Parts: sequence; structure tokens; C-alpha cells
Amino acid sequence: MTLEPGLYVAATPIGNLKDVTYRVIEALMAADRILCEDTRQTAKLCAAYAIKTPRAAYNEHNADKAQPEIIRALEAGAAICLVSDAGTPLISDPGYRLVRAARDAGVKVIPLPGPSAAITALSASGAPTEKFLFAGFPPPKAEARRAFFKTLAACEATLVFHEGPSRLGDSLAAMAEAFGDRRAVVARELTKLHEEFDEGTLLSLTAKYSAAAPKGEIVVLVYPPVAAPEATPADIDSFLAAALASMSVKDAAAAAADALGVSKKDAYARALALKGGK
Ligand code: SAM
Repeated sequence: MTLEPGLYVAATPIGNLKDVTYRVIEALMAADRILCEDTRQTAKLCAAYAIKTPRAAYNEHNADKAQPEIIRALEAGAAICLVSDAGTPLISDPGYRLVRAARDAGVKVIPLPGPSAAITALSASGAPTEKFLFAGFPPPKAEARRAFFKTLAACEATLVFHEGPSRLGDSLAAMAEAFGDRRAVVARELTKLHEEFDEGTLLSLTAKYSAAAPKGEIVVLVYPPVAAPEATPADIDSFLAAALASMSVKDAAAAAADALGVSKKDAYARALALKGGK
């Protein structure tokens, strides 16, 4: 099989070596070379599927030096696969600058989709999936981490983070401080022998993982903020009754609309009724 020239961004397994697509295996076999985050990691996948294609390192240590030659080879018509140690390249992994440079050079960039820890975690966690925000690794230092979480607190989506086991307890504590005691899931060792989805609130998970750091690789999912419960007719009446003691019907209705999120027109009608129709 021959491959069309271009840069192939190939997703590889995040644990279970069977989680690789036919397309990825074919491309890895037929490419002129495979760029690996770490050639020793990719050697395991290549050994499992008898892939003999030459492998070279492409990572944050050698990217500046290696990139010009890679782009020249692509411009000359090479078919090159980019892989990371696990999952989808560029997602908390090297490759962004290479893809950008390839596109800027007019080289075709072809995605070969497959596993990614964040999406894998989201798909089976039970957390809402309609809207989510992938936020990568939180900063390791406490001050920067606090500021980082603060910027996400109002986001009305499930938040998805990568985190290392030794930082998990501190990170969950800082999340609880920034987000309140929301529901959350610690998804660990996905697709591996000790795969686990641990669901709780941020405070209960903080207590558990601060006491003992877990082992393995982790994705943390935090549920979106919960909207304040809708005001009941009794809530509206008691608010209006208190407000009417010192306010006009119009002002009491406006205050109720602001405080309880009800319509001004409905609050006015109810306030008028409470005041005895005057
Ligand atoms: N590019 C990768 C992807 O698409 O999944 C992510 C690479 S990032 C450097 C590594 C982080 O991904 C780990 O620290 C962990 O947060 C998460 N991760 C990777 N494999 C995982 C697994 N099997 N189970 C849970 N989390 C995993």
C-alpha cells in the first residue's frame, strides 16, 4: 500500500493496545517514517503489529531543531506519521507547532482519529456531555492553579482536566474552593486492568485522595454549576410580603424579579393581589 504524501496525525492506544484503528496501522506500516514523542514507547505498539517503519523522535526537546528538516521532507513528497506516547497527538502532547508549520508550508495534514483520554473519560463517566470544556493539566503551583480554576468557575459546561496522581488531592481541594462542592468523577487507568470511575462531590473526593494518592493515569471531570432552584409560589409570596412592608407594589415586584428570577409582570400581579388589589 502506498500513502498519499502528507503529515498524518495518528491517535494510538491509551492503555489497551487493541484500541487502534485499521487506518492507523496501515498508515504506520506504509509511512516513510514515524515521528514519536518517545521512540521506546512507540516501539511497543510497532512490535505488537509488526510495523517496521523507521522511527525518529519529535518532542519538546528537539522540536526546534528537527522541524525544518521534517517540513522539507514533507514538501518533497514524504508521508510522515506523527504519534505521541498515548492517545491523540497535540492534546496535552507535542505536535501543534509541526501541524501549524506543515499547513503554513501548504503540506496536507491528515487526521487519523482514535483514542483520547479526555473523550474516553467523558463518554462513560455519566457527567453531562452536551457541552464540555477540556482544560488540560492545571498549573502545578498553588497560586497559578487557584487563578486558573477561578477563570473556569462560571463556565456552564462539564470541565475536563488531565492530572497526575501525586497532585490529585491538592487539585481537587483547589477545585472545591473555586467551584463549590460540585459533583465530579475521577476516571483512572482507562482501558487498562484497573480502570475505575470514582464519582462523588469535590469535597468527598478531596478527602479520599488527599489521604492516599492513587496510582496510575487520571482524568478529572467536574459537573457544570447547578442553576439555583426555581422559586415556588410560596417563595414569591413570602418575598413580596416582606418587600411590601417597605416598598410600593411596583418596586416590590421589581425586587422579586431580580432576586428570584421570575417575570416582573407576574410578580407585579401577585404583589397587587397580596396588597388587596390596590
Ligand atoms: N494526548 C493524550 C490523549 O489524547 O489522551 C494525553 C496526553 S497527556 C501528556 C497524559 C495525560 O492524559 C495523563 O496524565 C492523564 O491525565 C491522561 N491519560 C492518558 N492515558 C490515560 C488513561 N489510560 N486513563 C486516564 N487518564 C489518562
